[in-house]
Amino acid sequence: MSATPHRLPDTARLFLALWPGPVVRNALLAWRDAWAWTATASPVAPERLHLTLHFIGEVPRGRLPELMVGLQVAMHRFNLSLGRFEMWPHGMTVLEPDPVPSRLLHLQASLGEALRGLGLATETRAFRPHVTLARHADGAMLPAPRLPVRWRVRGYALVESSLKPPSTYCVLKRYQ
Ligand code: ATP
Ligand code: MG
Repeated sequence: MSATPHRLPDTARLFLALWPGPVVRNALLAWRDAWAWTATASPVAPERLHLTLHFIGEVPRGRLPELMVGLQVAMHRFNLSLGRFEMWPHGMTVLEPDPVPSRLLHLQASLGEALRGLGLATETRAFRPHVTLARHADGAMLPAPRLPVRWRVRGYALVESSLKPPSTYCVLKRYQ
């Protein structure tokens, strides 16, 4: 019996994000699991927890080597304190850094310039850094206050998102 041939799509759906290591991921997970979710809520799977810097969208796969090089920017390390939650439209439950460090804004702006330099469009809306914990979670409650998640950010990542079920995120390159 011959194996089913696997062919990658011609384009890759990409985004740039802060990607947690195991310790921060577990801390975010504990925050996620402290909520009393409603029946409709879909909590984000542990391996999908992240903070998006830029959504890039579909890019021809042949451009990946050029992008991987072109998206290297200088950055200073910084600390995030994620302890502020909000319920956004469609029951999107997010955890936000408070305060928002200027180094995070600087990194996001530098990557925006790099993307435009590569001929890729960037979001025109203001950057609202957040980690999504759940979707469709209107009415969910956080029963008790919690200490913020502390995240020492040393780098960022270029990630491919495949929407075809089972949807997955795959870190293509880490930068630090
Ligand atoms: P799904 O769309 O199946 O719910 P997802 O949103 O996790 O999954 P993607 O749509 O590939 O996966 O998005 C990857 C990341 O980019 C997510 O953090 C998402 O919030 C963000 N994102 C997606 N589209 C946009 C957009 N148009 N503008 C800004 N950020 C976006
Ligand atoms: Mg999406």
